[in-house]
Amino acid sequence: MPATRVAVPLLDLKAQYKTLRDQIRPQVDEVFETQYFIGGPQVDGLEKELAAYCGLKHAIGCSSGTDALLLSLWALGVGPGDEVITSPYTFFATVGSIARLGAHCRFVDIDPATYNLDVGRLEAAITHKTKVILPVHLYGQAVDMRPLMAIAHKHKLPVVEDCAQSIGARDADGRMTGAIGTLGCWSFFPSKNLGGAGDGGFIGTNDDALAHKIRVMRNHGMEPKYFHKLLGGNFRLDALQAAVLRVKLRHLDAWHEGRRRNAADYRKLFAAQKLPGGTVTLPSERPGAYHIYNQFILRVAAGKRDALVKHLQSNGIGVEIYYPVPCHLQECFASEGWKAGDFPQSERAAKETLALPIYPELTAEQKACVVETIAEFLRS
Ligand SMILES: *Cc1c(COP(=O)(O)O)cnc(C)c1O
Repeated sequence: MPATRVAVPLLDLKAQYKTLRDQIRPQVDEVFETQYFIGGPQVDGLEKELAAYCGLKHAIGCSSGTDALLLSLWALGVGPGDEVITSPYTFFATVGSIARLGAHCRFVDIDPATYNLDVGRLEAAITHKTKVILPVHLYGQAVDMRPLMAIAHKHKLPVVEDCAQSIGARDADGRMTGAIGTLGCWSFFPSKNLGGAGDGGFIGTNDDALAHKIRVMRNHGMEPKYFHKLLGGNFRLDALQAAVLRVKLRHLDAWHEGRRRNAADYRKLFAAQKLPGGTVTLPSERPGAYHIYNQFILRVAAGKRDALVKHLQSNGIGVEIYYPVPCHLQECFASEGWKAGDFPQSERAAKETLALPIYPELTAEQKACVVETIAEFLRS
């Protein structure tokens, strides 16, 4: 039995809001007073602040992370018959965006240590149909971008980075994820490290022409008003989201540090349990890379994972499985002909991993309770 039983939700956004209420409410009130809901000074201000934060020339607010991906691929001309290379072990939005444009996913299996696309297998996946390389910085840790970019340059392929889980994460050479490839795509879904009060996202780039094209496509391809140069859609971020996000952005680095401290504490607590070798695998950090721990992923034997999840839930500890079915085995892709065994590392990860609470407001007592409850189960 853990020394103290405490409830530990997977994520506690109420705890975060308590600390921000007095800063957020006046900003939201101001948006209502101005009645400027679409575009306007809050959205412009947020875009400037995001560009500065990421070290990019352009940040373009979008309606969601999914729309940021869809719009980026669309603006790069991805369409029927094209292939986009990505990981099968990601949130569905990554691959859904490819498929919705009529293109095909060309999957590269993950590195089991980082759960990110295994760059060593990338070049073999390139064909004459390849249009874009789409790495996903899963769980908040950068893909090994230096060799990836070398391959992209060699084959003259644009790179779209899925940074939905990696805002502020840096690669081993210090470069910010999303500022390395051609375009970066971020999400403000509430569970991301920078979460809005609803849906939102943004696209970042240093390419002036692409930034302009994406801005126009974001608003029905309209330039000037009611003259439609390009096909586009409504992919806009609204001012209420921008107002909330501007307040939260000021705290983001402190939250990253809080998550990293929690990860370090978990490592110490697991080490102190002295579980037999191989019982649990903690997340690996690539040397020099700055991991922002959107998720803290534990790997256990496949036969134990589901029972451990139940045990934790029945003890008031929130956990989640990201993701139980890799993308190539999703029902909607049945006609693509992928089968079990095609991407064994992704399939293994889907059976062996679970995410623990890692949000910055976790207390020492909660962290100890999580680790003790896991250790108690794994010993039994
Ligand atoms: C959250 C997420 C998305 C989609 O973002 P939304 O804002 O929810 O549309 C895309 N890719 C990954 C890896 C994600 O985690």
